[in-house]
Amino acid sequence: MHIRDIFKLHRTTFSFEFFPPRSEQAAADLFVSISELQPLKPTFVSVTYGAGGSTRELTRDLVVRLESETNLDPIPHLTCVGHSEGEVREVLSQYAKGGISNILALRGDPPDNDHEYDWSQGSFRHAGDLVRAIKAFNDSGEHPDRRGFGIGVAGFPEGHPGTPNRLVEMEHLKAKVDAGADYICTQLFFDNRDFYDFRDRCRLAGIDVPILAGIMPITSMKGMKRMAELALGARYPAALLRALNRTSGKDEAVRRVGVHWATEQCRDLLDHDVDGIHLYTLNRSTATREIYKTLGVEDSHALA
Ligand code: FAD
Repeated sequence: MHIRDIFKLHRTTFSFEFFPPRSEQAAADLFVSISELQPLKPTFVSVTYGAGGSTRELTRDLVVRLESETNLDPIPHLTCVGHSEGEVREVLSQYAKGGISNILALRGDPPDNDHEYDWSQGSFRHAGDLVRAIKAFNDSGEHPDRRGFGIGVAGFPEGHPGTPNRLVEMEHLKAKVDAGADYICTQLFFDNRDFYDFRDRCRLAGIDVPILAGIMPITSMKGMKRMAELALGARYPAALLRALNRTSGKDEAVRRVGVHWATEQCRDLLDHDVDGIHLYTLNRSTATREIYKTLGVEDSHALA
């Protein structure tokens, strides 16, 4: 369903993020998780695109499988890195034919997080360029929905390291939305005050599209450190670190603290009229199911 229609139907969206599995076993595990997550009736699910475009086919295969074999509504991520205009058009054309309604348009991380990466290898430099390319595709009328794809973009409550000047960064975000984005999904954060301030700054800048909050329950110390790296820095509040320290690193205790923290974030976000909550599931179902249970709801419809 086009994301604009989704927002008309749901005051608060609940979505889950998956990454494409790289082996048959990983795919089997993912589909077990998916069967456990389906009863939660997420508003949509999204599928990542590996750094440097490394999962182009895998992303498409998972999206096609979700679309044809489940009742989930998949939103593929698409990144600029290393892609020519023609390649992007081809990907969009396949998704349009496959009945996909929305795309999350991102710049993407360079392969192997190479800071010296030569961006001129592709046709696009910033996510805004990709938004414009999707808009041009939409205008071509090739998509069965006359509006074309709904478009999402990324936002960074704690700021993106590429633009230390937060005023300029907000101008870039505004330009990306003005280019045609229908919603913003944020990077993970652990202190809701960062999200509320970001949301206020967006509104002050005249950005009025829905802003979905990215939440990742910590389930292990190793995962937490890896996420801090992938998220290009994440601020772990002292209260969270103190709670994690009390666990002495015991796996189950760490998991309980992480899921409890994420649940409290979700409860507080709901109290503050968040447009949507996007859960980074890491292809597992347990933490997400526990969050729903503690929030006291059986599925997303009760939360929306
Ligand atoms: P942009 O909007 O292009 O911004 C990147 C930097 O460039 C920022 O500092 C911005 O201020 C600056 N900038 C933007 N426009 C301009 C301009 N016109 N002139 C000068 N500077 C400008 N990565 C993947 O590889 N695959 C994924 O599937 C993926 N999924 C993600 C999902 C979410 C919800 C989020 C938040 C991130 C995801 N990422 C993914 C990571 C993301 O691609 C990186 O964090 C990337 O560094 C920034 O992406 P962006 O789309 O915000 O880029």
